[in-house]
Amino acid sequence: MQNSFQKLDPVNWDTEDSPYGEEMEMYRQTVRTYFEREVEPRYREFEEKGVPRNVWRKAGEYGILGATIPEEYDGPGANRMSIMVAAEELGYAPSGATAGSFIGTDICTNFLVEFGTEEQKRKYFPGILSGEVIQAMAMTEAESGSDAFAARTTAVRDGDDYVINGSKIYISNGSKADLIFACVKTDPSQRAKGMSIILVEGDTPGLTRRRMITQGYKGGDTGELYFDDVRVPVSNLLGEENKAASVFVNTVALDRLQIVARSIGAVQRAFEMTLEHCQNRKLFGQRLIDFQNTQFVLAEMEIEIRVYRAFYNSLLRKVADDTITDAESSMAKVWLCELEFRVLDQCVQLWGGQAWMDDHPISRMFTAARVQRMFAGASELMKATIARRYV
Ligand SMILES: Cc1cc2nc3c(=O)[nH]c(=O)nc-3n(C[C@H](O)[C@H](O)[C@H](O)COP(=O)(O)OP(=O)(O)OC[C@H]3O[C@@H](n4cnc5c(N)ncnc54)[C@H](O)[C@@H]3O)c2cc1C
Repeated sequence: MQNSFQKLDPVNWDTEDSPYGEEMEMYRQTVRTYFEREVEPRYREFEEKGVPRNVWRKAGEYGILGATIPEEYDGPGANRMSIMVAAEELGYAPSGATAGSFIGTDICTNFLVEFGTEEQKRKYFPGILSGEVIQAMAMTEAESGSDAFAARTTAVRDGDDYVINGSKIYISNGSKADLIFACVKTDPSQRAKGMSIILVEGDTPGLTRRRMITQGYKGGDTGELYFDDVRVPVSNLLGEENKAASVFVNTVALDRLQIVARSIGAVQRAFEMTLEHCQNRKLFGQRLIDFQNTQFVLAEMEIEIRVYRAFYNSLLRKVADDTITDAESSMAKVWLCELEFRVLDQCVQLWGGQAWMDDHPISRMFTAARVQRMFAGASELMKATIARRYV
């Protein structure tokens, strides 16, 4: 079974077994077909109004959403590797650089699978599977990004309700989401120990939002959310009060790794496209690939991508066993996202001026690569997480 990495095989690439297994490779093909047929031809439309709802519903029809929803709730019941596969394909599709996190926020489904009440699961799973319910994880605030537990948005108990006040910023799918996983302070005297996750539906009175204009991910529906006496029932609490950290504990590594998966998909696609370009582009009476400099640059890229893939594959096995540590996922996030940026930078150089034009896929992928080093844990924060074990 070959995956996309081995398919590029321009130089007798190894044909090692897929780290995902046969079933997940079939899932990958479905996700790839979805991107090729439903997203790639339309991505320019996303810039103005974000990803249209019918593109989400199509994802539902292809059966690629909510992959971890158990069969007893009419879901596919796939394991967490499905999140990595979908993320790789999001990176592999050049339109992913415009769509932003898009179906990547399906990682929130995992919170519901692991911590949702029966009522929450029955209510939201059908819409998640069909693409009717778009999800968003709302943690970041203007004054607290990396220092997430310094959040100031509060949820105060009032009878059988929580009343939420505050705001969230830079939230992927935030301007459109129907189901917002709001990370709020239920005990403002505490940091992590005062945080809870509360489900807020998109049409709840008191919730307003605006779509933010971004440098890359232009269609990513990145949003700023304002909570003004937003009242939701106590039954919307996800997991236990003041225990958001225990909800995140299993998912933080997964979230970082799905960012890494996106960068793996992106570098592989960028390499494939750039190699083909160099083989076709003629200048000074020869092909661009005939210059030794081009050959060396591509050879270095191939070496880095191979090493990159080997490290990633080793961590995938730990995702499957649920043994991946915070430090390991942080190492992957730092190194692989920095590498993605370097590779895309070299690709831009080989493509020349056309890769500086906004609608060129390599241009968009280059811009998208920049955010990978900042969000879901900036590289410096990741290094601090790794180094915490030394002192
Ligand atoms: C496109 C996009 C999508 C996003 N989607 C979401 C989402 O869906 N949900 C959500 O909650 N948030 C989301 N975010 C927010 C993102 O996670 C934050 O931007 C990120 O956590 C950094 O926070 P900040 O922007 O406040 O920067 P700051 O926390 O101010 O950090 C700025 C810089 O400070 C440095 N720094 C940070 N920590 C350390 C440290 N420990 N040691 C040394 N230096 C350090 C780093 O250089 C860092 O880049 C998104 C952001 C973007 C751009």
